[in-house]
Amino acid sequence: MTPAASPAALPRCDRPVLVTGAAGFVGSHLCERLIERGHTVIALDDFSTGHADHLKALRRHTRLQFVRHDIAQPLPEGLPACGAIFNLACPASPAHYQRHPVATMLTSTVGTWRLLELARGSGAVFLQASTSEVYGDPQVHPQHESYWGHANPIGPRSCYDEGKRAAEALCYAYQREHGLSVRVARLFNCYGPRLRPGDGRVVSNFIVQALAGRPLTVYGDGRQTRSFCYVSDTVRALLALMDSDWSQPVNIGNPAEHTVLELADRVRALTGSDSPLVFRPLPADDPVRRRPDIGTARSVLHWRPEVALDEGLALTIEYLRERAEPTLAVLHADWHAAPELVRGRTLQAVNRQD
Ligand code: UDP
Repeated sequence: MTPAASPAALPRCDRPVLVTGAAGFVGSHLCERLIERGHTVIALDDFSTGHADHLKALRRHTRLQFVRHDIAQPLPEGLPACGAIFNLACPASPAHYQRHPVATMLTSTVGTWRLLELARGSGAVFLQASTSEVYGDPQVHPQHESYWGHANPIGPRSCYDEGKRAAEALCYAYQREHGLSVRVARLFNCYGPRLRPGDGRVVSNFIVQALAGRPLTVYGDGRQTRSFCYVSDTVRALLALMDSDWSQPVNIGNPAEHTVLELADRVRALTGSDSPLVFRPLPADDPVRRRPDIGTARSVLHWRPEVALDEGLALTIEYLRERAEPTLAVLHADWHAAPELVRGRTLQAVNRQD
């Protein structure tokens, strides 16, 4: 890999910073950190999966301007010339993006193209929030940035995986053809406060289910692995990447790898829940193993995750405890409909059967 250097963006940025997906889970935390650092932030979101509440703390802040907009549509007239663009717009939960595959694909392709054009026009440094999904169901473990991946181009996840791969390709096309400064952050599973109760991702599902005393829905046998990075660690890495002059892709994730069954165990312990497990079919193309090699982030960004899983889960549980109520009725109905419900089986009992 040839590390192509380009000037660092944020330290010298006295122009506004544009954040798309600004009302989303990661985007809203990023906006708060940018405002704390003294930047003026133009925050775009279409509220397709984000929520206005996430920006509540910044609502009246003089240095934040919110624009409701879908980036797949022509960008609003009169956006100020920005010094840096963070493109975080895209649904990230498999449940969401598989419900809207066309919009997901267009967000990552047409939307990214529009923002790259904006960056070209204003000379902004462009950061693309990419994903571990570019590695598909990886055949190499752990995943290093040099791995090209093993993605199904036509499966149910392809709208997200291939959309994000195309977005990366577009970034480097703009770098080659127009000399644009780009940053590509490959985010692995991220969790924390502002995951929505109905988000559909495993961390929020398990917590909401455990708090409600309902069975935890384990897909497949639960032995597939993920590496969960707490949101403050993820945001710190995004800022460090924009601050740096590194223009090659960087994995951002926590290398501590856990099975889904282990996660269920941790959530049940931390919530004090004795919820049983219910096993559901594994969704198509669900990656079997996922763990980032974060050597690049360590050496180039001097970054490593600091929040341990139990600590991050406790903070996420606290957040969701206050917001889970509306979802409980849905989960209750789901519980009664589940034919393969394993009533009362403990996680330890399930593990022993393996
Ligand atoms: N998963 C699960 N139960 C759930 C939701 C997800 O067992 O209620 C599994 C899912 O099949 C995958 C892992 O948890 O293996 C992580 O899923 P998530 O949707 O959070 O994100 P992904 O990493 O698949 O994009």
